[in-house]
Amino acid sequence: MSGRSELGRKPDRSVVDTAERDAVLDEALIVHVGLIAGAGGEGDGAHPVVIPMLCARLGDRLLLHGSPASRLLRTAKAGVEVCVTVTLLDGLVLARSAFHHSMNYRSVVVFGTATEVTDHDEKVAALNRLTDHIVPGRMEAIRPHTDTEVRGTTVLSLPLDEWSMKVRSGPPIDDDEDMDAPAWAGVLPLGVAVAEPLPDPLMPERQVPPHVADWSRGRWG
Ligand SMILES: Cc1cc2nc3c(=O)[nH]c(=O)nc-3n(C[C@H](O)[C@H](O)[C@H](O)COP(=O)(O)OP(=O)(O)OC[C@H]3O[C@@H](n4cnc5c(N)ncnc54)[C@H](O)[C@@H]3O)c2cc1C
Repeated sequence: MSGRSELGRKPDRSVVDTAERDAVLDEALIVHVGLIAGAGGEGDGAHPVVIPMLCARLGDRLLLHGSPASRLLRTAKAGVEVCVTVTLLDGLVLARSAFHHSMNYRSVVVFGTATEVTDHDEKVAALNRLTDHIVPGRMEAIRPHTDTEVRGTTVLSLPLDEWSMKVRSGPPIDDDEDMDAPAWAGVLPLGVAVAEPLPDPLMPERQVPPHVADWSRGRWG
């Protein structure tokens, strides 16, 4: 932890347990990666940008990947600091006043400098992890990456050294004078829902494998 990763508002919602942090990172399907782009006057000049990406945890590091042409990855691997934000939305909190409406969530913010993964075997392991993070068991069901695919992908690794986690859970917190209001109050739980898998029309008819049929994410899995 450091000054910039200490919660300013509602520090009682801070979580410092790495197991709880890892559970959030391992559940997340999307993260948002922010940095200052264009430092050095290139293009439009320096400006903040926040880009949605997928991300996976491998031990005490976060992995990002994408095209070598990605501006974000090119900027980050040049040593520009990044900030990765992970948000899991657990519910809508409906209070008796609009003021006290809220959301139940678990979120993690990570600061740091990412480095490029260049070793071939480490890169393959990282790409496998990214794939299996999104669909566990997927790499066993598909062919391995080709060398061209590995060479054609940039992988960055960000240490989980400087981070914060904040959680809100539980019912609304209303003002005493509103407690007899006639409005319904409580929590509308939210999660990731899965519909029927849609087979590729170009694929011969095949049974849906368990890693697809049984895919789930989060508390409702
Ligand atoms: C759910 C999700 C997961 C993704 N996962 C990955 C990933 O793992 N790896 C990866 O490389 N890319 C991923 N992408 C695409 C990613 O968001 C970027 O579009 C891509 O990486 C190009 O980044 P760049 O820095 O080169 O953007 P540029 O194309 O250089 O950005 C230029 C401008 O384009 C706009 N822009 C760029 N991306 C987006 C966007 N997604 N939505 C709206 N405007 C945008 C912004 O205004 C930005 O300033 C994902 C997108 C989504 C929505």
